[in-house]
Amino acid sequence: MIIKERTKPVVLLQLEALLRRLPGNHRKRPLIEADLARYAAGYSGEKSIDYHLSFLPEKEFTILHDLRLSSGSHSFQMDTLILHPNFILILEVKNITGTLIFDQNFHQLIRKIGDKEEAFPDPLLQASRHKKQLQQWLAANRFEEIPIEYLIVVSSPATIIKMIPFNQSLYKRIIHSNTIYDRVNELIEKHKILLLKPPGLKKLSRLLDKNHTVLTKPIMDQYGILLTDLIPGTACPKCLAFPMDRVQGHWFCKKCSIKSKNAHLSALEEYFLLTNAPSISNKEFRFFLNISSTSITTRFLLDSGLSHNSSRKNRVYLRKK
Ligand SMILES: [Zn+2]
Repeated sequence: MIIKERTKPVVLLQLEALLRRLPGNHRKRPLIEADLARYAAGYSGEKSIDYHLSFLPEKEFTILHDLRLSSGSHSFQMDTLILHPNFILILEVKNITGTLIFDQNFHQLIRKIGDKEEAFPDPLLQASRHKKQLQQWLAANRFEEIPIEYLIVVSSPATIIKMIPFNQSLYKRIIHSNTIYDRVNELIEKHKILLLKPPGLKKLSRLLDKNHTVLTKPIMDQYGILLTDLIPGTACPKCLAFPMDRVQGHWFCKKCSIKSKNAHLSALEEYFLLTNAPSISNKEFRFFLNISSTSITTRFLLDSGLSHNSSRKNRVYLRKK
């Protein structure tokens, strides 16, 4: 049973929104496009393992995707967490093509394509840290007994996997996604003691889901981009062309000729997504939409469902939690 579904990561939504609004010749575009491609590949790798996970019997396994928990002062995010009555399994998904060399001397992951080499953080080290953090979290929530396993899942079947120096026990922790089912069955053979009865399992899965927190980074600060760098306006809800025109009380798309009454609502969401601001003023929304009329944006904001502070003069509308 899937308790927590996989959804598009916030950072992907942020980068897409940023590129939509950044002029074609902006000098940060190539960097943002490269980062978007990297995050998109990670997300599609994570999604691609869902097919293999669908073979696990629903009654026996509880699955939570993209779970971010806090243990002490640190947070940690796991791509997929699988709960079984006898054990817990953390999956870290890597969607990297070429030849992957897990270098255990320097704890790095080296990707080789032709003569080109690129280094990434060691996923084995990362996953074993997540295991320790999850152990602490479980202990703090009175679930200390359950053994935790972890696997690195390489999502592309064409990726060649190597390890230096070779270590049998660690090597078993790296798998291609089409062997998830077999490896999980090996783990069931290994962990034969039932530790979580149905009520306990239900309680734990609810607790994990409830304690999940979303990390939203201020994406514009990260790239040193200002609101004045962005193209103001709102996108067409049908063809995504940008920006729409304001014609006789409607939004009008020059490209596909549709009319919209509330296309500005997605611009409002984008404002919060991009700025990470806790609130928006009428003036800020007018600037973001490129509208001069205060009364129009006042109506938009009042109709948006956002709550606002009481003062009339310095009124701000609060971001939805
Ligand atoms: Zn359109």
